[in-house]
Formats: sequence, C-alpha cells, structure tokens
Amino acid sequence: MICENITMKEVSIPEGRSETRLFFAGQDTVELAKKYGTPLYLMDEDRVRANCRVYKEAFKKYCGPDAYPLYASKANSFTRIYEIMSEEGMGIDLVSSGELFTAIQAGYDVSRAYFHGNNKTDFDISYGMENGVGYFVMDNWEEVEAIEREAAARGIKQKALLRLTPGIDPHTFEAVATGKVDSKFGNAIETRQAEEITLFAMAQPHIDLLGFHCHIGSQIFGEDLFEKSAEIMLGFIEKMEKSHGFKTAELNLGGGYGVRYVEDDPHIDIEKKISQVADSINKTCEDLGIQVPLVHMEPGRSIVADAGMTLYTVGSVKRIPGYKNYVSVDGGMPDNPRFALYGSKYTCLLAENRDKSKDKGKDKGKDKDKDSFVCSVVGRCCESGDIIQENVNLPNDVRRGDILAVCTTGAYNYSMASNYNRIPRPPIVMLRGGEENYIAVKRETFEDIARNDIK
Ligand SMILES: *Cc1c(COP(=O)(O)O)cnc(C)c1O
Repeated sequence: MICENITMKEVSIPEGRSETRLFFAGQDTVELAKKYGTPLYLMDEDRVRANCRVYKEAFKKYCGPDAYPLYASKANSFTRIYEIMSEEGMGIDLVSSGELFTAIQAGYDVSRAYFHGNNKTDFDISYGMENGVGYFVMDNWEEVEAIEREAAARGIKQKALLRLTPGIDPHTFEAVATGKVDSKFGNAIETRQAEEITLFAMAQPHIDLLGFHCHIGSQIFGEDLFEKSAEIMLGFIEKMEKSHGFKTAELNLGGGYGVRYVEDDPHIDIEKKISQVADSINKTCEDLGIQVPLVHMEPGRSIVADAGMTLYTVGSVKRIPGYKNYVSVDGGMPDNPRFALYGSKYTCLLAENRDKSKDKGKDKGKDKDKDSFVCSVVGRCCESGDIIQENVNLPNDVRRGDILAVCTTGAYNYSMASNYNRIPRPPIVMLRGGEENYIAVKRETFEDIARNDIK
C-alpha cells in the first residue's frame, strides 16, 4: 500500500461469509461510509500529527532550537486543522484573509503566521495587521508600499520577508512551478530585481525586513532542489551583506517534499533530507563567511495529503466494447479537481473485495487479470473533463452501491473544492486512535449552497 495507514482486513459478514475490506487509520471504510454517507472526506488525525512531528523534530535537530516548520494551510484549511497545528506547535502560512479568519476562529496564535500571496489587497494588509499577523511575505513593489503605508498609519513596525525567485525549474508540472524567473511570484535574483526591491524595503521606516523567502514548487522529490535553491539564496544573502550591510535573520525555503500518490512514486525520508539541506546550508554559510540564518520550510501537502482519503459510492458501470469503460461515482471534480487541473495521479481502491475463492478454487490468483478491467473513474458533473482518474484497474464485479476509495486526498482537495453543478461539498470526518471518529466540517446542505442568493 502507498501509506501505512491503509490496509485490507478480513471481516465477517452475515451468513457466515467473510470479505476483505479497506481499513483507513485502523477503521473500516465501509462502516464509515454507512455512518456518514458519501462522498466523504476522511482525515487521519494521528497521521497529520505524526507528519508534523517528523518536520518539527528534524528542524530542531538540524536547523537549531528556534527553527520550526510552517504548515502551508492552503493545502487544507478548516478550523480543526488550525487547532491541531496550534497543539503541535507548528507555525502556519496563510494566503488569504479567509484562511486568516479561520485560523483566528480556531484560536491559533497568528503572531506565528506568515501572510503570503502575490496580490494581497489593501483589505488583506489591514485585516492582517489588525489581527496581529506576525509576518508578511512581500511579493512586489506595490505591496512593500502598501505595507509601509498601513504600518505607518498604525504606528507599528511590521516584520516582513521578501519573496524571491531563485530561477529554478523544478521539473515538475508547469502549473505548480513557481520559482522560475518568469513566475508571477516574487522577484528574480537573476534580473537584479531582487536586489532593487531589497534596497527599497530596507529603506522603509515601518518595515522590519528580516530576510527572504522562495518557493520553487510543489511535489518536490529531489533533495538537491532545496539545496540548490538554498545555495542561490545564500549567495544573494552574502551579496546583500557585503554590498549593502544587510544582515539576513531568516531564510524561508518554501513548500515541502512530495508525497506518494501511486506505488511508483518514491518514498522520501524527510528527516534525512532535512539533515542534508541543513548540512548544505551550514557549509555554504561557512564558505561565504556569513551567519547561518534561521531556516523555515512550509510543507503543506506532505503534512496532510496521506492523512486523507475520499470515499464515494459507485453509481454506474458503463462498458463500451472496443472503446472504453467508465465507473461513475457520486462525487468528482467539485470535491477533487486535481485531475482536471493537472492530470494528477491517484490510487483508487474498492473498499470491499468480495470473496471469489469459492467459485474459482485454486485458479484464484492465476486469473487475476481476467478478474479486473481497466476503466476511467469519473464524477457526476455535466462535463467530460470531470475525471478522478484514468486507467484504473477495478474488479470485474464492481457494481452500483460499492464504496470506492481514492487515497492521498488530504491536500488540495477540500481546499480546492467547489459547488459546480450546485453539488454540496462533502464533510470532513477525522479519525483517531484506531476507533474514534468525529465530524470536523459538516456536509453542506442545499440551503448552504443557496444561502447568498437574493430572491
Ligand atoms: C503551496 C505553497 C507551499 C506548500 O507547498 P506543498 O507542496 O504543499 O508543500 C508552501 N509555500 C508557499 C509559498 C506555497 O505557495
């Protein structure tokens, strides 16, 4: 299985028969689907906490006692997740006033929050300062000016970082590659725009410029990319110190490591990777003769992705001989738009494997290929692009009413969900301790969907 929290277990069912069922975080997914209905987002709370601890402990160990990771909350933003981040001592990164509002609702101490985004509005800036956001990560000139203006009006000195683009193509999907020179985000080191905006920010009396941020993109597997971007950033930091006497206190390397969506994805030893990045930073700083800055990283996906699973109910199984097969489920692009957006890969599993050994005797296993067929798992929207995954292998006997699970949906699913076709968003049910489950986000109702309509 792609993650340890997913297992198949034999359970007894009526008439003395048994079947194997999919368990997530130690709990029977068929029972969870019955209890809460589908489509259903599940979140393994223990896994979220364990993922936080891997980063947190590695940061303490290798980057110094004051270093800590920030949860990039755009990956999955709801009140309960900010409570968990608060309990785990994680910093957070926010990209909108809506996320900030949610964090505040959760009682999260936002003096530990970093406010990101390439176009913070005047409202965002004033709402952020009003609520005591710790840090703004300034993206552009207009923002530096707006933050200076707002801080001056409030008579405060606002702590801030500047977002730079180190000019790295992460060899990942174009749509999530953000550290290249031609990015809409940040200021390119290569074009000297990074240096110009640094001088401009340094000159602002109400901005306390602490350092620099970069984010080279999501779903990063090669550790050398973090080392590489750190090296470029430190080269810039050295230049700012030697040419302009600017001492950098903080270096934020942006989003975290990749996760396994399918069996072919590599397994990443995050602790080891962080130790290597830290070693490389220490060595580069020594070579350059500069002080080692406080290092941050902002994992989103690798904190929540493998803690999530979506359960659907199968509706129709359509076979078009000689062409294609479809299995339709009761959700789709409104709850998971990632295949439609990026062609993202997912592992789909049927939650029940009915025991076929009785009819097939010893041939079981040999005939495995004949027992399954290849299909596209599609949603229920009026849109051909409403696909969860293509080329999925499912048992031949899949039928209406079966529960189908899509693994690793904890990141960028709920947070990207829409009400397309006026479909209510699924609830989020948290799982913990192997048997406890509770609702963290309620299922939307039709009334919720029409709430803002004026008659
Ligand atoms: C999206 C994003 C992250 C998180 O990236 P993951 O791949 O989810 O770890 C971190 N920082 C910034 C600025 C981002 O935009």
